[in-house]
Amino acid sequence: MYADLHIHSTASDGTLMPEEIVELALKKNLSVISLTDHDTTDGIARALNSARGTNLEVIPGVEINTDWEDTEVHILGYYIDYHSQQLQQVLHEMRHARDLRAAKMIEKLKELGISIDYEHVKKIAGRAPVGRPHIARAMVECGYVSSIKDAFEAYLERGKPGYVPRTKMDPFTAISVIEKANGIPVLAHPGLMERDSLIPALVKKGLLGIEVFYPLHDQEMIEKYKWYCRKYAQVMTGGTDHHGPGTGYPMLGEVGVDQKSVENLKFIYSLLA
Ligand SMILES: [Zn+2]
Ligand SMILES: [Zn+2]
Repeated sequence: MYADLHIHSTASDGTLMPEEIVELALKKNLSVISLTDHDTTDGIARALNSARGTNLEVIPGVEINTDWEDTEVHILGYYIDYHSQQLQQVLHEMRHARDLRAAKMIEKLKELGISIDYEHVKKIAGRAPVGRPHIARAMVECGYVSSIKDAFEAYLERGKPGYVPRTKMDPFTAISVIEKANGIPVLAHPGLMERDSLIPALVKKGLLGIEVFYPLHDQEMIEKYKWYCRKYAQVMTGGTDHHGPGTGYPMLGEVGVDQKSVENLKFIYSLLA
């Protein structure tokens, strides 16, 4: 594989540090990777630093989690100017909203007789933005539920008594956030959101690519999204969504794109710059 363009590090919810990801990518003989942490660019400088002097190219990236109607839509941003103050401001607000949401959920759980500590949840999350999986793990560790799955099914899923909705960013706003930071907005794993009817509107807003190659995309989906790319002049991207060994995602480089796709991405970037 030439390039893996969808990778998470400890800057968000991955288990490998940016330096370890670079090391692994070199071991797997990848030529290009992109670090695409959720709502943060904190790992990028570290990844760029440790790739310096090697043959590995690191494309600065981000994955912005948004909501549309009753589904989550993730928008990737490639070649993002992570020094952009405006971008950092938006991402900071998004992460802060997560902290507030977590605190509210812990409060709700307390009312239900489940007493977990915010500090405990924070500790589990490490430097990653706190989220429901971390709350679920604290519930398991305190013996309130027997598994993370149970915690979600009984308390933390939408509609369950411990659930608090997120402050929503919609995918159109995410596209303009990425545009303003001079990045290339790409629709992540469209096969997961099953909302293809949204694609033309996203393209109209400025979407420039679609993640065609993704672990959970079967051959039929791949063909379908290739067709969308041709029809709407979108660049094809792909990657593993790697979150670290043993997290259920494929190993780095097992899904990705060839050199031509990366060159297309670069070409678009040269037009933006
Ligand atoms: Zn995603
Ligand atoms: Zn991801």
